[in-house]
Amino acid sequence: EAKAGGKATWARFEPRMRNEVVSHARLGSELHNAIIRHELYLRYQPVFDIVTGRIAGAEALVRWRHPVRGNVPPGDFIGVAERSGLIVPLGSWVLREACEQLNAWQAEYGSASIQSINVNVAARQLREAGFVDEVAAVLSDARLMPANLVLEVTESSVLDGRQVRETLQALHEMGVRLALDDFGTGQSSLSLLRAFPVDVLKLDKSFVDGICDGEDRGRLAVAAAVAQLAEYLDLYAVAEGIETAAQMEKLRTMGYRLGQGYHMAEPLLPDEMAAMMAAAARAVAAA
Ligand code: C2E
Ligand code: MG
Ligand code: MG
Ligand code: MG
Repeated sequence: EAKAGGKATWARFEPRMRNEVVSHARLGSELHNAIIRHELYLRYQPVFDIVTGRIAGAEALVRWRHPVRGNVPPGDFIGVAERSGLIVPLGSWVLREACEQLNAWQAEYGSASIQSINVNVAARQLREAGFVDEVAAVLSDARLMPANLVLEVTESSVLDGRQVRETLQALHEMGVRLALDDFGTGQSSLSLLRAFPVDVLKLDKSFVDGICDGEDRGRLAVAAAVAQLAEYLDLYAVAEGIETAAQMEKLRTMGYRLGQGYHMAEPLLPDEMAAMMAAAARAVAAA
């Protein structure tokens, strides 16, 4: 009876599990083709100075336009790409594309262009022996200074051992800036800040979500503490996922200078970014 029950349970779950494995495997091979077939593109979410309202930079976010499935969100394929190792060529493409785009904007809009671009980097990429050389080559090909590039890494990927630590140190010595993404959600935030050459803390959206909820003192406390920490350690603090004017105002009073979120702008197509910079250039010319 128990055996039959076990069997029935297995029979009930097995097809679903197999489908999941097959669809991940298929997604993986399709992703491999996506890179070759140019189905990937980037959107750019502006980072704003929330005191002056000026655009301060942008984060490159990868998108996949699948010929049959339509737009596949990164949440559905970045994990697959990490497990299969495809994140390495995918990440290389993102880095190069974002840097070339920034170079094109700087050439077109000069001082009205954004001056830095944020690129998300997975742990797997940091473990590649040639990563530092690759970054140097991409910057040089795109005629950018290292300070024009901000690499976003998560706390868990930073804790990935000695080689990753050396890689981050080498990037820092080169002048590339490092941001800790989803800050506050990891395990050992505070000790990390002493051990790694971090420049930017990106307060995770989950804390921003709670700051205007009078009942939720915990998330408010984390948001306020991160702003203080950044000030004492001379780091930039960026609040992400700002969806309302009230959240932006609250963050400003806490000391946040930089923010990202749908309230100000969603991730934009290059043309939409260009329109913002063109408007900024006209404002400068008119002044
Ligand atoms: P992330 O780096 O923390 O990026 C922020 C995510 O929050 C983006 O989702 C962005 O579109 C979304 N977002 C921004 N403002 C708001 C808001 O006000 N409300 C809400 N609900 N969401 C907001 P996206 O583009 O879907 O990317 C999800 C994650 O996928 C990223 O989180 C990052 O971890 C990963 N990812 C995206 N592009 C890349 C990439 O090129 N390489 C790597 N390794 N990971 C990437
Ligand atoms: Mg990010
Ligand atoms: Mg983030
Ligand atoms: Mg995130």
